[in-house]
Amino acid sequence: MPTERPVQEFAPAKINLSLHVTGRRSDGYHLLDSLVVFADVGDHLQVTTASETRVSVTGPRADGVPDDARNLVWKAADHFGQPADITLDKYLPAAAGIGGGSSDAAAVLRALAQATGRSIPPGTDRLGADLPVCIAPQAARLQGVGELITPLPPLPAIHAVLVNPGVEVATPKVFAALRSADNPPMFATLPQWPDAATLAQWLRGTRNDLEPPSVILAPVIGDVLTRLRRQPECLLARMSGSGATCFALTTTRARAEAIAARIAVPGWWVQPVTLT
Ligand code: ATP
Repeated sequence: MPTERPVQEFAPAKINLSLHVTGRRSDGYHLLDSLVVFADVGDHLQVTTASETRVSVTGPRADGVPDDARNLVWKAADHFGQPADITLDKYLPAAAGIGGGSSDAAAVLRALAQATGRSIPPGTDRLGADLPVCIAPQAARLQGVGELITPLPPLPAIHAVLVNPGVEVATPKVFAALRSADNPPMFATLPQWPDAATLAQWLRGTRNDLEPPSVILAPVIGDVLTRLRRQPECLLARMSGSGATCFALTTTRARAEAIAARIAVPGWWVQPVTLT
């Protein structure tokens, strides 16, 4: 019997520390090789089983987020086969390259599994390429079209500041502007990184192949990256996903907070975080 008690879930932001586009399948999906981590900032959800699905979107980033069947949380309830009353408290910017919608949908699937005692039905990738990795949010290497997930051993403590300059970048447009879809993958085996500085140094040998086309489509992303790279505490600055959110890695939370305080611009979303 499904319980009608509300289940609370946290939907963390997903950050692509690297994102190599390594090919394109005949069905048009792009092949990726990406190092994914999760932040301690995210959306908050309350999910209760119900006779029909209803979504209400609240919170500081609710503006413009659909509260109907277009919302991925609604699609997640449909996928699970369990109508639900969902309150989505939105803190993450939408269409921002940090997987907000996918992480929300994964949180609904976890909540419904808990409420019903049933397991999450297979085929969650149909809800989005980022969805499978968001189901058990932990550092992982993502390959294929997002379905090949290799969890990584615990990472060293890494901190970052996330910066979104308030422009929405549509993922399909970024892929369409990509010059080549056939780029080299990351190294076949990943090392263990003893600390954030070593990880950042290693990441310098990796890329986000979507960064150049996104910067062309939204030049303000280039401005964000330039400002982040000028900060003395910044170990490495890069864009996440298809943008526009960028991150600067630091060795301590205090350093991430120092950059955040210095870089704040009205209209920009600036958030110090710890990554796991
Ligand atoms: P990714 O990193 O997977 O590309 P993203 O951060 O770029 O994700 P989302 O935040 O998932 O993108 O939003 C993409 C679009 O999906 C938005 O423009 C919005 O209209 C729609 N959308 C559907 N469900 C949600 C949701 N739960 N939260 C935010 N946007 C949603």
